Amino acid sequence: MGRIAIVSAMHEELAAVLALMPNEHKQMVASRSFALGHLNGQEVVVVLSRIGKVAAATTATVLIERFGVEQVLFTGVAGGLAPNARVGDVVVATEFLQHDMDASPLFPAYEVPLYGCSRFGTDVVLSAELALAARSVLQQGLLDAATLQDFGIIRPQMHQGLIVSGDHFVSTCGDSQQLQLALPDALAVEMEGAAVAQVCHDYGVPFAAMRTISDRADNDAHADFLKFVSHVASRYSAAILARFFAARA
Ligand code: SAH
Repeated sequence: MGRIAIVSAMHEELAAVLALMPNEHKQMVASRSFALGHLNGQEVVVVLSRIGKVAAATTATVLIERFGVEQVLFTGVAGGLAPNARVGDVVVATEFLQHDMDASPLFPAYEVPLYGCSRFGTDVVLSAELALAARSVLQQGLLDAATLQDFGIIRPQMHQGLIVSGDHFVSTCGDSQQLQLALPDALAVEMEGAAVAQVCHDYGVPFAAMRTISDRADNDAHADFLKFVSHVASRYSAAILARFFAARA
């Protein structure tokens, strides 16, 4: 099996994943630190993309061109849009769309010009493996009662469907409602996934992504954000990826 990339946007998430591979070797390319190592005997490259679509696209391109990765996994947090995408749930993406792409009237809104489509699907097999790992970690129950109570998490669920991306931290009820009206099947919103999906599509590299819902993309979206990432999302990422790689070994 070829080398697999693990990408997160923020340092707080990557730390828990890096702790799973203590003997990694670091290499700097394009001002990013790529950590090369192994998880369950499988060759991985772990990297922080930084936030936003351009940063994510640069990272994905370097991973494919310089590190020859054959599969890409993204793990991070997102704002919940669908009413049932609650804080503490995990969404595994089936497809991605850029909610801030609009070249109308030249092209239909959301369509990526010259691609003839607005949505980029994730790899079915890789996503199914990720969903299996996510479901089993959630069912097993990873968080202690105090943490669950702290963040008002009751019974975390796993969802699969559309995730939308844009260079905008959605943090008002108005913006969130507008997105829900325009894209009723969108489960969650974040700032990188659709860019990575497009780069992987260009190179024909399989891509899968999971996002823990950190906020409801409303006026409270910023509250406890970093605390949630380090206390909940990073633990989910590390546990789900450990399960994912164990199942492949
Ligand atoms: N406050 C953070 C910045 C986070 S930006 C800091 O101080 O570092 C939000 C990050 O989480 C992005 O990487 C994005 O992909 C994801 N995200 C989580 N909730 C989001 C929301 N409501 N809207 C857009 N992106 C969101």
